[in-house]
Amino acid sequence: MNRQEEQREALLGEISKCRSCRFCIDVCPTYQASGGVESFSPYGRLQIIKYLLAGRLDFDDSLTYCLYSCLKCRRCENICKSKGQNLDICELIHSGRYLLSTNLAREGKHAKL
Ligand code: SF4
Ligand code: SF4
Repeated sequence: MNRQEEQREALLGEISKCRSCRFCIDVCPTYQASGGVESFSPYGRLQIIKYLLAGRLDFDDSLTYCLYSCLKCRRCENICKSKGQNLDICELIHSGRYLLSTNLAREGKHAKL
């Protein structure tokens, strides 16, 4: 397994710890600003990364925008941890962005994670 595959597996493993409780959604400023579009919430961003990793979504500009519009304010992470669910959401989104950008740079718009 190469380094990129290891990163991909590690990221999938961490995202799988999400219990889909959605406590993080309402505190997210980009979710609020979008008028309630789940793709602009922390939970939605984790789902986008998960489906990209699983090959069930293709990259497009709107998904890229959803990932890169995260403000890294950590409000979501604080509420997730306060509910005992302990996901490092900002780090996971950051890792998803990293895999996305390196693959896009290497393989162009039709890259897979
Ligand atoms: S609060 Fe944490 S466990 Fe719950 S949906 Fe959000 S990221 Fe997942
Ligand atoms: S860190 Fe990103 S996903 Fe989390 S609440 Fe802030 S803007 Fe939303």
